[in-house]
Amino acid sequence: MRVIITLACTDCKQRNYTSTKNKKTHPDRMELKKYCKFCNGQTVHRETR
Ligand SMILES: [Zn+2]
Repeated sequence: MRVIITLACTDCKQRNYTSTKNKKTHPDRMELKKYCKFCNGQTVHRETR
């Protein structure tokens, strides 16, 4: 049930993280606040394909 997703920074569009999610609990795109080394701080990271 778990799928691999890529998380990209919404500010600089860099793909910084890969993660897994449960499709049942998160049927839509996930957004997480994470540290981006390109933006030098916490930014919103969004799930991409
Ligand atoms: Zn960034």
